[in-house]
Amino acid sequence: MKKIVVIGSINMDLVTICDRAPNGGETLLGTEFFQIPGGKGANQAVTIGKLGSRVVILGKVGDDLFGKELLSSMDKNGVDIQFIEKAPVSTGIAKIVVEKNGQNRILVVPGANSYVDIEYIDNHLDVIKDCDVVIGQLEIPISTVEYAFKKAKEYGKITILNPAPAIKLSEELIKNSDYIIPNESELEVITGMKIESFDGIIEAAKKVIKMGVKGLIVTLGEKGSLYLGNDKFTKHSAYKVKAIDTTAAGDSFIGGFVTRLDLGVDKAIEFATKVSAISVTKRGAQTSIPTMKEVENFVG
Ligand code: ADP
Repeated sequence: MKKIVVIGSINMDLVTICDRAPNGGETLLGTEFFQIPGGKGANQAVTIGKLGSRVVILGKVGDDLFGKELLSSMDKNGVDIQFIEKAPVSTGIAKIVVEKNGQNRILVVPGANSYVDIEYIDNHLDVIKDCDVVIGQLEIPISTVEYAFKKAKEYGKITILNPAPAIKLSEELIKNSDYIIPNESELEVITGMKIESFDGIIEAAKKVIKMGVKGLIVTLGEKGSLYLGNDKFTKHSAYKVKAIDTTAAGDSFIGGFVTRLDLGVDKAIEFATKVSAISVTKRGAQTSIPTMKEVENFVG
């Protein structure tokens, strides 16, 4: 079985449900509060662990209660957490305010995630050497992701980049990524193109392929996803499900994709589509990620 290393963020999501978000200077009563383990790196690692594949995470938390709970959540879900270090600041958090109409407002404080630096990666190069696939996102410093991917390619590993939250990517990072998996708005940022139609998505995707990536998978929410490789284009519809909360849809898609990559990209996307469909039917990030049994029992 392939061994996967996720290099990325670990956050506690603090979710408040309310009729409407307060304006500046205003205090309102909310209706519900949830504290849910999240962070793109941790969510992707937990997905892989829950699906029964071997996964290790490189990242940092603070020396606080959130950090402890996040470590425990990853550990319980099959993620190897032995290389996670403590940073001298608070654990990363995301304050999420959800209004009755479904509108989200999210404020992320990276905290310990911003201490995941090149030196830390240098101290753990053996972890990268020892794996088959490296996954990264952009909730840690981009210089760290660039360095880790450069090293991973030197060691002949498969690299998967989820460019979220989106910023313009260096040519080198694109070249060092075998697969890039953005959603539609992230694709706009990485290409600098305004996308207004399906043809626009294809045009932007082709631009990324020309930059030197092997395969690009664009996730399109309830419309599914599409894959563009050097000589191939496929479209995958999403399952029709009752979506309750789409937090971590993309993360569960990526986690599912990587666990089936050895069967080929199309089969991997088909599996990822199932995993992410289940995740949107449940609330929260890591709480919504299905186990292998749930995926096997899923009828779309
Ligand atoms: P992100 O969470 O990164 O914005 P998307 O919203 O594009 O990512 O979702 C990732 C994948 O999750 C989609 O490609 C799709 O397969 C699945 N998905 C997302 N929203 C839904 C939905 N409402 N119904 C079914 N599947 C969904």
